[in-house]
Amino acid sequence: MTAKLIDGKALAAETREQVARRAATLRERGRSPILAAVRVGDDSAAASYARSQAKHADAVGIDYRLVELPEGTTPSEAARAVEELNADSAVSGIMLHLPVPKPLDGFALQQLIAPGKDVEGVGAANLGMLAMGREALVPCTAAAAFACLKSTGIDLTGREAVVIGRSTIVGKPLAMLLLAAHATVTQCHTRTRDLPQHTCRAEVLIVSAGAAGLIGAEHVSPGAVVIDVGTNRVPASDAPDETKMKTIGDVRFDEVFPIAEAITPVPGGVGPVTVAMLLSNTVDACERVSRD
Ligand code: NAD
Repeated sequence: MTAKLIDGKALAAETREQVARRAATLRERGRSPILAAVRVGDDSAAASYARSQAKHADAVGIDYRLVELPEGTTPSEAARAVEELNADSAVSGIMLHLPVPKPLDGFALQQLIAPGKDVEGVGAANLGMLAMGREALVPCTAAAAFACLKSTGIDLTGREAVVIGRSTIVGKPLAMLLLAAHATVTQCHTRTRDLPQHTCRAEVLIVSAGAAGLIGAEHVSPGAVVIDVGTNRVPASDAPDETKMKTIGDVRFDEVFPIAEAITPVPGGVGPVTVAMLLSNTVDACERVSRD
């Protein structure tokens, strides 16, 4: 059996095309989708992520508004910036770049974002609605992993699905999405005993541990669909003087590829779809307001 490679780049391109069409329709109706991103301080990774977001948003017809706050911004000033965006009816979606410098609390600031504009799906209201099987803005990475899974055409009803990881933005919302699709879900984590005993039962295995190469052939049953969310930076070679880094997943791809029915690569799997999901959530948010 040879696995079907799930092409995240192609899926992301398809998602962006759909988003661009929906954004164009919104514009025709005089309602331009706007994604506002709040960035505090001088974190260079966040600055580069913001530049890349602006480019992606622009390409699909979403206006990107970056609100840059200086290092030394107080909690009440940061809260005010979020509340101003909440109150601005032109703004469709809001996201906060992490990390934020001390004494700011990224989690607390995220919880201030109005649920209808919480396009990263990180607020309690959206997670609660998702848990209740209601319409919600789903955390982008969970939505992306689920879209990769659905792209195989698999009917999840009654399937044994195992999720490794229980974080609020990836593992937990993924388990909720699988439950809503009628799968039987097992959630594993660092305290799980005998990981292979669980993973070998999986017809669908989603790995979001952030542990490079955690899952090998001994964890996977033939014919399973494997989604690797893990994104780990490791040295590109074993040579002691080697400083080059590369990105690998939580799954030992070369071992699992031959036995899986379908599998996402890292890079080029869930990652590119995650970026597209933020844009998709932004047009979702804009459409919901237009419907009201
Ligand atoms: P996290 O550290 O918040 O959570 C990791 C989870 O995995 C925890 O619940 C932990 O219990 C579990 N875990 C860790 N090691 C384990 C082990 N050895 N056995 C069983 N369970 C284990 O991380 P996160 O934010 O959920 O992210 C998970 C991974 O997904 C990371 O590699 C992260 O870089 C990646 N990620 C990718 C994208 C993307 O766009 N592709 C986006 C976000 C996160």
